[in-house]
Amino acid sequence: MTYEELKYRICRECGARCCKRFDYKNWFVTLSLRDIVRISEGLGKDLEYVLNNYIEIIRIGSSIILTLKVINRVCIFLREDRCTIQKFKPIACRVYPVYIPGMYIDPQCPLSKYPELLKDEEMYVYQYVKEHLETQKILEEYSPKSIRDIAWIIRETLKDLDKNIETS
Ligand code: SF4
Ligand code: SF4
Repeated sequence: MTYEELKYRICRECGARCCKRFDYKNWFVTLSLRDIVRISEGLGKDLEYVLNNYIEIIRIGSSIILTLKVINRVCIFLREDRCTIQKFKPIACRVYPVYIPGMYIDPQCPLSKYPELLKDEEMYVYQYVKEHLETQKILEEYSPKSIRDIAWIIRETLKDLDKNIETS
């Protein structure tokens, strides 16, 4: 069995636990602005549609965080234990269970017992850090109050967007 097959089997047996425990407080997917653009392009929907239907703004302390909507703690993009946006899922989902910040492997994920299977996830860590620092800086600077503000900010600040992530 290849590494990929083993990884796929572990995830199938797990039943997508990592996508079913969101609470907007302790467990949520933090999005970069580029994640939102990729989702918009991947779904073929405009930014406003994506922001209104799939994105929440949460505040933790003084930080503004963009995250995916959840229904009964389950990610809005999960269907029958599968991610429906696999090819353009957020960079945070792409690196999981390598957990950032802190850079450790989430012990709640069964894959944590097989660090040798996590080479692909580690490959995206640099991109994760880069995109999230950029997003944090922009959100601090513009301090958006609403979802509509986010669409405006994305168009203003990411004009030179090189947003593609290689997907397999
Ligand atoms: S990444 Fe980990 S927690 Fe998520 S489905 Fe796979 S094995 Fe389960
Ligand atoms: S976007 Fe996909 S991988 Fe990420 S939490 Fe939602 S269903 Fe899971």
